Amino acid sequence: MITIDGSEGEGGGQVLRYAAALSLITGKPFTIQNIRGGRQKPGMMRQHVTSIEAAAAIGGAEVSGLAVGSDALTFHPGVVQPGEYHFAVGTAGSTGLVLQTILVPLMLADAPSRLVIEGGTHAMAAPPFEFLEKTLLPIIARMGPKVAVELVRHGFFPRGGGKIEIEIEPAALTPIDCIERGDARSIKAEAIVAGVPFDVADRELDAASKVLSDWPEGAFAPRQIPAGEGPGNALLIEAAFEHVTEIMSGFGKMGLPAEKIGKTAAKRMAGYLASDAFAGPYLQDQLLLPFALAGGGSFTTVKISQHTRTAMDLIKLFTGTVFAVSEASSGPVLIKVDAVTE
Ligand code: AMP
Repeated sequence: MITIDGSEGEGGGQVLRYAAALSLITGKPFTIQNIRGGRQKPGMMRQHVTSIEAAAAIGGAEVSGLAVGSDALTFHPGVVQPGEYHFAVGTAGSTGLVLQTILVPLMLADAPSRLVIEGGTHAMAAPPFEFLEKTLLPIIARMGPKVAVELVRHGFFPRGGGKIEIEIEPAALTPIDCIERGDARSIKAEAIVAGVPFDVADRELDAASKVLSDWPEGAFAPRQIPAGEGPGNALLIEAAFEHVTEIMSGFGKMGLPAEKIGKTAAKRMAGYLASDAFAGPYLQDQLLLPFALAGGGSFTTVKISQHTRTAMDLIKLFTGTVFAVSEASSGPVLIKVDAVTE
């Protein structure tokens, strides 16, 4: 039985989601204490419970301690069963993070799966739908498995009500090297508003354009979607290259000025563009599991995040796979699947 202290490292929901994914893949049970011990409100929230319920459903797992507010659980994995599944978070908790929990186990299964996940599609501190579609999944496709996602309905904080559909065509994972971005293809900043004043989108884009001052005016586009899908607002700043498309995002919240959302996301994009890295600050931790299971490969990235360090520790704990990290004094960081120590 693997024992995890959920307050260590990043100390958030990712520890729990990665542990469940790794447990399903390796067949090793785990027990975790101090779940989300590094967060202001520790313990499981609705979205974490749904993620573990999803992992248990696809993996025939037996779980004890699974409840909103619980700070400890034990997870005994069974056999991963591909097929059709429907999961609903019930809040604006992220559909993308539920998918993060079960994606890799299902893309390594012996038959296709079809998933419907309801909840938030553009939620804070989580990958928005476009990031899954354009940033993460095309890289997975290069490694073998084909995963198609469709946005049926947007879901924003606090109401949720979004829906995504996913089709997973499994395949063995092939190691790949993601060192260069390749030629620049396109840039755009899109501010989506649903049932909130259009002016919010304009102010976000205006603030973003001040940071990304060399982007042409036509790259900044406000978009109104049906009010019934809101209320909500998301800013998606996208830079597409030959080998990777990076998306930096921001999400509207009561009391958070539109200008701040625009400036923060744009600064993140400017930082990424100023580096030569392939992966931005969020893509890096999401690549680790597929790369580890491919048993090889490498990618360059910006400054290493705490999410990345924590994911590396968990991967080592369950699989023995170690990453080599080369942080040069200038230039991007190189992360390489190094060795399997078990
Ligand atoms: P946690 O904070 O532990 O719940 O983990 C959040 C996960 O969501 C990590 O895998 C992050 O890389 C990912 N994430 C957070 N914000 C974004 C974002 N704006 N775009 C893409 N991924 C994100």
